[in-house]
Amino acid sequence: MQFQELNLSQDILSAVEELGFTEMTEIQEKSIPLMLQGRDIVGRSNTGTGKTAAFGLPAVESITEQDRNTVAVLILCPTRELAMQAYEEIRKFAKYKHIVKPCAVYGGASMEKQIFQLKRGANIVIGTPGRVMDHMRRRTLKLQNLRCVILDEADEMLNMGFREDIETILSEVPEERQTVLFSATMPPEIMAITENFQRDPVHIKIKSAQKTVDLIEQYYFEVAMGRKTDALRLLLTAYNPSSSMVFCNTRAMVDQLTEELQKHGFRAAGLHGDMKQAQRTQVMNSFKNKATDILVATDVAARGIDVSGIDAVFNYDLPQDNEYYIHRIGRTGRAGRTGTAYTLISGRRQHYELRDIAKYINAEITELPLPDREGIIAARKETAVKDIAAMEAVHSAYEVIDRLAAMGIDPREAAARLVSKTLQADIEAIPEFEKPRPLRSRKGSAASTVKVDINIGRNRRIAPNFILGALVDATGMSGKDFGKIDIFDEHTTVEIPASETDYILESTNPMKINGQQVTVKLWDGTKPKNERSGRPGKTGKPEFDRRKKAYGDRKRSKVFADYIPDRKNRAGKKKKY
Ligand code: ADP
Ligand code: MG
Repeated sequence: MQFQELNLSQDILSAVEELGFTEMTEIQEKSIPLMLQGRDIVGRSNTGTGKTAAFGLPAVESITEQDRNTVAVLILCPTRELAMQAYEEIRKFAKYKHIVKPCAVYGGASMEKQIFQLKRGANIVIGTPGRVMDHMRRRTLKLQNLRCVILDEADEMLNMGFREDIETILSEVPEERQTVLFSATMPPEIMAITENFQRDPVHIKIKSAQKTVDLIEQYYFEVAMGRKTDALRLLLTAYNPSSSMVFCNTRAMVDQLTEELQKHGFRAAGLHGDMKQAQRTQVMNSFKNKATDILVATDVAARGIDVSGIDAVFNYDLPQDNEYYIHRIGRTGRAGRTGTAYTLISGRRQHYELRDIAKYINAEITELPLPDREGIIAARKETAVKDIAAMEAVHSAYEVIDRLAAMGIDPREAAARLVSKTLQADIEAIPEFEKPRPLRSRKGSAASTVKVDINIGRNRRIAPNFILGALVDATGMSGKDFGKIDIFDEHTTVEIPASETDYILESTNPMKINGQQVTVKLWDGTKPKNERSGRPGKTGKPEFDRRKKAYGDRKRSKVFADYIPDRKNRAGKKKKY
């Protein structure tokens, strides 16, 4: 459906057209008509789906003569950047509707300027909950005529500790009002807000995280422990993206990595919540106008940031939450363009975490080898050939060459020295890098497995799926990683990949199976002293005969069969998540 088919006034439709919007996104199509009717809405939708227009257009449409000098719409956003962004977009929607006066209020900026703007007759206020509360307390923001409250990225506002502020605001604004809430996730706290502050809301759910993610090519690299910074430099050098974002999990890491990149001549800047507002704005502006090529950021600082033309997203740290992965990679491939996301992983745990992410988003994340130094050098030479072929010389250059020739340095040698000078700088910029050791043996033969012994057996009424469940839980590995499970009277042995031995022993001690604390050790082939027979499934107490049949022989057990990895298949498959 097109915007033109909506019942919006002409001045707004013109502004929308100027922005290049023709077709509505799904969330827009579903929520704009309802908002225009004044209904309360709970919209569940991921980043990049066009929520700002979904609530911004009806908000702008709703402003009439009678809203001159009184605040009619309040929009709450989790961060200053998001508030600024929503403010800018709403200003564009209102380009031809002069009666609309939007105003942004957020922390870390001058109170006086905001008060001045509010006094000039703002009728749509966009702000962070903390600063909005501040203005309400000082009575510089009066909401007695408010008709509509919009909570944008409500889950993130709760994550940032704004729950009380939001509840206070919602309980202090007029009861006769429209309340619209957007959130990527629906934790119980959001349901509580919905229950207490919304009236018969319409639930809208957009399942299209996929839509944006589908356009993004996703790759990962295995990097040796402690070498991620080198690997990132290598990737930035090799791919040379004109604009990219790098995500870290902590502020300290953002600072450290930014400094490291700058030290190596990259035009990088960091963005995180500890920075002053003026500094953050400056960083964002320099990234938007391409004075900075690389923005290193934390999730919260970068949430929802909408900068076009980002070629690549690098996950330096794995995101702590699957949803964050979607948010992060959604920074590239905006508005139907393609983009690339690269994730760096070190160690087994991250390996498994990434596999979980791939499962969660139901997309392929393909392994790539780190580009090697030789490959990059070859590419640099190629560039030099092209560059020089396209150059022209100034006349005085010949004079220099002639003088060199007179000294016995022939022109070929002179040219080579000049080329070396530029090529050398390029080559020196390529970090030294040793290939990380692969994480697991790819031989895939029976020789690469060992057995661990768990001190719980048939006498405690356990089944293979209990054991497997506990192992998967403790290690984050997949059921497929474990081989044959033999349950004896008093103990159980499980085949594991030999390369994972240390990791498995470390992460399974302690571990509980079916509520019972167990010990996991490497199996030395000895039986506990009370064991009546070494053969699984042949002994056991009579009352377990039925079960014994079910899983004593793995060929006859369906559950069991699922747990036995098909090694031939696995070895032959290209590794993809
Ligand atoms: P969200 O808040 O859901 O993350 P935004 O409102 O920031 O998404 O929109 C993401 C981008 O898509 C913005 O650059 C916006 O201008 C653009 N956009 C939104 N709606 C449309 C549309 N119908 N057609 C084209 N582009 C759109
Ligand atoms: Mg948004």
